[in-house]
Amino acid sequence: MEKATIKKIGIITSGGDSPGMNACIRAVVRTCLATDIQVVGFYRGYDGLIDDQHVELTTDKVSNIIHRGGTILKTARSPRFMTKEGIYMAINTIKKHQLDGFVVIGGDGSFKGALALSELCPIQLVGCPGTIDNDLVGTDFTIGYDTAINTVVDAVDKIRDTAESHDRLFVVEVMGRDAGLIALRSAIGSGAEAMLLPERKDDFESLISKIKSWRNSKSSRIVIVAEGDESGGAIKVADAIKKECPSLDVRVSILGHIQRGGNPTCMERVNASLMGYHAVKALISGKSKVMIGIINKQPAFTPFKDAVKHINELYPEMLEILDVLGN
Ligand code: ATP
Repeated sequence: MEKATIKKIGIITSGGDSPGMNACIRAVVRTCLATDIQVVGFYRGYDGLIDDQHVELTTDKVSNIIHRGGTILKTARSPRFMTKEGIYMAINTIKKHQLDGFVVIGGDGSFKGALALSELCPIQLVGCPGTIDNDLVGTDFTIGYDTAINTVVDAVDKIRDTAESHDRLFVVEVMGRDAGLIALRSAIGSGAEAMLLPERKDDFESLISKIKSWRNSKSSRIVIVAEGDESGGAIKVADAIKKECPSLDVRVSILGHIQRGGNPTCMERVNASLMGYHAVKALISGKSKVMIGIINKQPAFTPFKDAVKHINELYPEMLEILDVLGN
């Protein structure tokens, strides 16, 4: 590979953790080392930058991590970085290490932090989208999403076995405070009968009428509820179903934090590796304040200011597919 003019960069993982972050760190480090760039990792997101909690990332430091969930750099939300004092402390660390560039792996909040830093410091900054929710503009898939939906599908397959044996309806709550993309894809992938999403405001009543129309026609049913749906979560939904349909044996399963962990899928590892590789190439080519995504298998560069959550985007055809196939 061509040798770079930048000499040293920093890297953090920030915000919520997601499987595949390690694969991305590994790709950043190995691409840097191939182009004679040194890499310093800071622990616990922006907090590590403020406190100069760091590790020199050599090739052996990123050996045997591609398959591991979580992040070797740990992650955190840093209220101190939301203040000018915190940002100036981070800038002192950047100066101390003589960093020319920086890679932030995180969600839209982490990119806002990077933008705030760029206003006070001339360092080149790029980002890789790390969040299980897949709710960012500028990429087909965020790091963590594919693993999370596979974890949900695996869990629902198991729940289906017991639901089928006992003729039960299970309400399964999945992650997604603002976006129902985990619910949408995992509902189709697990053959769920119905789902409730934060993006659809009128779906609870139609769920009840749908369930009434199924009566006795199926022995097991799965209803997937995104945690951010306005119905208030799986327990409330289950109570309401029991009230409206007292003959049904209704149970609840809240999947919770298992959705954040686990070995990343192959697709995750590949996407995260591509993003990490292109993050370094972007720095070398002089880009800054952009998020590296993958759109139609090609690298895509979205300015941080535009890499925001897209909470309203529904996939009408996918919703229709679930309605048709779940009947
Ligand atoms: P997730 O999608 O998992 O929530 P995120 O990156 O969106 O990830 P946030 O908690 O929103 O998570 O942001 C992570 C960190 O980025 C914050 O704790 C804070 O340190 C920094 N940050 C966010 N917004 C700003 C801002 N406007 N100014 C400075 N720093 C910010």
